[in-house]
Amino acid sequence: MTKKIFRSILLAAVSVLLASLVIIMGCLYDYYRNVQEKQLRDELRLASYGVEAGGSGYLEQLASPYRFASVADCRLTWIAADGKVLFDTHVPAAEMENHADRAEVREAMAEGESGGVRYSETLTERTLYYAQRLTDGTVLRISISQLTVFALAMGMLQPILLTAIIAAILSALLAHRMAKSIVAPLNRLDLDRPLENDAYEELSPLLGRIHQQHRQIEAQLRELGRKTEEFEQITENMGEGLVLLDGKGVVLSINPAARTIFHADSACVGQEFLVIDRDHTINLAVQTALERGHSEVRAVRNDREYQFDISRITVDGLTAGTVLLAFDVTEQAAAERSRREFTANVSHELKTPLQSIMGSAELLENGLVKQEDVPQFVGVIRTEAARLVTLMEDIIHLSQLDEGTAPEKEQVNLLELADSAVSALRERAEERHIGLSVSGENLMVDGVRNFLYEMFYNLIDNAIKYNIDGGRVELSVSAGDTGITVSVKDTGIGIPPEYQARVFERFFRVDKSRSKASGGTGLGLSIVKHIAQYHHADLDLHSTIGEGTDISVAFPNEHQMSK
Ligand code: ADP
Repeated sequence: MTKKIFRSILLAAVSVLLASLVIIMGCLYDYYRNVQEKQLRDELRLASYGVEAGGSGYLEQLASPYRFASVADCRLTWIAADGKVLFDTHVPAAEMENHADRAEVREAMAEGESGGVRYSETLTERTLYYAQRLTDGTVLRISISQLTVFALAMGMLQPILLTAIIAAILSALLAHRMAKSIVAPLNRLDLDRPLENDAYEELSPLLGRIHQQHRQIEAQLRELGRKTEEFEQITENMGEGLVLLDGKGVVLSINPAARTIFHADSACVGQEFLVIDRDHTINLAVQTALERGHSEVRAVRNDREYQFDISRITVDGLTAGTVLLAFDVTEQAAAERSRREFTANVSHELKTPLQSIMGSAELLENGLVKQEDVPQFVGVIRTEAARLVTLMEDIIHLSQLDEGTAPEKEQVNLLELADSAVSALRERAEERHIGLSVSGENLMVDGVRNFLYEMFYNLIDNAIKYNIDGGRVELSVSAGDTGITVSVKDTGIGIPPEYQARVFERFFRVDKSRSKASGGTGLGLSIVKHIAQYHHADLDLHSTIGEGTDISVAFPNEHQMSK
């Protein structure tokens, strides 16, 4: 501001100074030139009278250099009618050339008088001259050299410069004071309360506009604050992680769920996402979303599997950033995995018996089996078909349990149910001289009769299948503080400790050939697990190799009901 005012004042001062100089010098120069011309003519007239009266004597009387009272540096030259210089106040006449062809001399001789101006080669000097014909035909010429305006100006350069410097200093001081006096009230303006200021009248429209803008900004800020609060309330309570990133991958907002996933705190806002999550998987997906509009990626964080859905945000056709949503898909992923494994296992389990059936049937069809061996091959077909039926039944049971489309629950007497399962398997046990016993009280649970029967059947069936010939199976139903426990205990081969946790998995068998030989499908215990879960019961397995296995099902108290 000060600089601008200084420049303006200096420019004005220098312009005025120069203009004044030019005008004054022009006027003075013009005035003095007129005066000088007049004086020069008067002097010439006087000198003419003197020469007419006293001839060259008059001229010689004058001191050299010749000085008239009011005209300095005048030069007088007396020229004869033939052009010969008779006298000159500055140079001896003998040294001077003939002046007959001089224009002013010729003109004076012809006209009686003449006058004019001659400029020097450098244009810094001008010579003003007048010539007059005397009565004897001679010509008297007077001349004077003057400085031109340009030379005069050059001569005055020093004072002009001095004046310019003084003008600059004065301008600076003035500008400083003016700027201060102009700016001070502006600095004192209270822009928070624009209408309460009393500065310049000219500022009133501006202050009015500022006041209006203040009100607009306040309203917008209130609206923004309300929206931010709304947004925060929604995102804070979201189970899904939400991260907003700008176009350069800098975190703009991150909700608590996302902070937990990435082990970050609220200070991560403003940092690059790469700093928060150094794994390139998600960062690459963010890049892909920026380029293509959307991307999805699955990654494990904190031992949980998440699906990250990333979408590009565009504002007015320009990319503003990305929004990242994180869903916990651990259970879903596990279910998908087990479904895939299950499908693969089912295909495998179906293929083996079907191949045996096909093989035997083909041999029979082509008459390649001896008559006496036919029953054996037919037996294979029947056994494998029976295995398929059992397998299909087990699969159906499992899928029923998976879907949770089980029938209504009812009051079931566990001891009675255990008895009937034991009865169904007694013959099979007797084949191998295995003793079966059931003990306990008549205890009731709220459950699905068929499912519970199937559970007992599978447990007793296993206790027989994996028992030694002449072994024992004991089933007991008892009530304790925590609920009802049904235990199936055998004196069989036992389960190695490393497999004890896995026997409840679908299609898991410790000894595949033994399981198959005894018609096992590998699904029995996983059906037991599902039925237990359906009834909120806990399974407990104790087993020692060579000594036997004890699997117990503990129904919680709310199901306990004495008959
Ligand atoms: P399977 O149809 O093969 O019997 P299960 O799911 O019922 O399938 O059992 C899984 C595996 O657990 C069996 O193959 C067997 O190796 C083992 N197992 C189950 N019950 C017993 C038991 N009482 N004693 C020893 N091993 C057992």
